[in-house]
Amino acid sequence: MAQDQQIKDLKKLAKKIARAKRIEHHDALNIVAQKLGHTHWYAAMAARKNGWLPKPDDFAKVEDLLKQAHPDETVEMFGDPGGDRQGQIGPHAYSIEVSMDEVFVRGRGWMVHVPEAPSKEPCVRVTDKRFKVNPIHDPDFVTRALEIANAKAEQVRARIASDWPRRSTMPDANGFAVHPINGSSSDTWFCLHCDEKSNAKSVAANLWHCPHCSASPMDIFSSAWWLEDALDEHSGSA
Ligand SMILES: [Zn+2]
Repeated sequence: MAQDQQIKDLKKLAKKIARAKRIEHHDALNIVAQKLGHTHWYAAMAARKNGWLPKPDDFAKVEDLLKQAHPDETVEMFGDPGGDRQGQIGPHAYSIEVSMDEVFVRGRGWMVHVPEAPSKEPCVRVTDKRFKVNPIHDPDFVTRALEIANAKAEQVRARIASDWPRRSTMPDANGFAVHPINGSSSDTWFCLHCDEKSNAKSVAANLWHCPHCSASPMDIFSSAWWLEDALDEHSGSA
C-alpha cells in the first residue's frame, strides 16, 4: 500500500505540473518519468513491477520540476509568483517587477516588458537616451534580458492557469473549453473588441485573450450577442 502511495504522489505532482504548463496529464507523467531516468511513464511503471520505487531525492527532483513551472503557491498581490527580484546580466544589474500579470525587467537605461497576453510581443525600450554605454544596444544582452523576462512571464501564466478550471486551458476531445471567468462552455468564441471568431483551442492557448487583437478575457464570449442585437435592431426598424 505504501508503494502505491508513492506512485500516487508522483501522479499528483504530475497533475500539478500539467495544470501549470497547460499540457496533457500523460505528457506531464512522461516528463516526470524522464526526470527520474525512465524513457516514459509506462517504462517507469514497468520498472516498478520489477521493484523500482521513487526515492526521497526523486521526489525532490520532481518537486523541482513543479517549482520551475509554478514557483510557489504563496502567491502575492497582483500575481507576482515570487522568486528572484534582482540579478545580473554580466556586469549589469537588473530588477524584475510583476504588476497586474505584466512583467517588467529594468536596468540602468533600459526596460523589457512582457504583456500578459501571450499573443502580444514583448517590448524592449531605451529609458535613458543620455546613458551612452547602454547594454540594451547589444543583441546578445537583449536576448538574455528577454529570456529572463519570458521565464518570469511563463511563471505568471502558470500561476494563472493553475487558478483556473483545467478545462479552461485544456479543451476537451470535442474542442470545447470553459471560460475561466464566466464559466460558459463552447468550441467557438467571439471577441467583443474586434468581432473576430476563434476556436476554443487558440483562445485557451492565449490564456483567454483574443488571439487576433489580444483583448482581455472579459471581452471573450461564446456568442456574438452584440452583433445579434445590432441585427435585431436593423430588422426591427426595417
Ligand atoms: Zn479581438
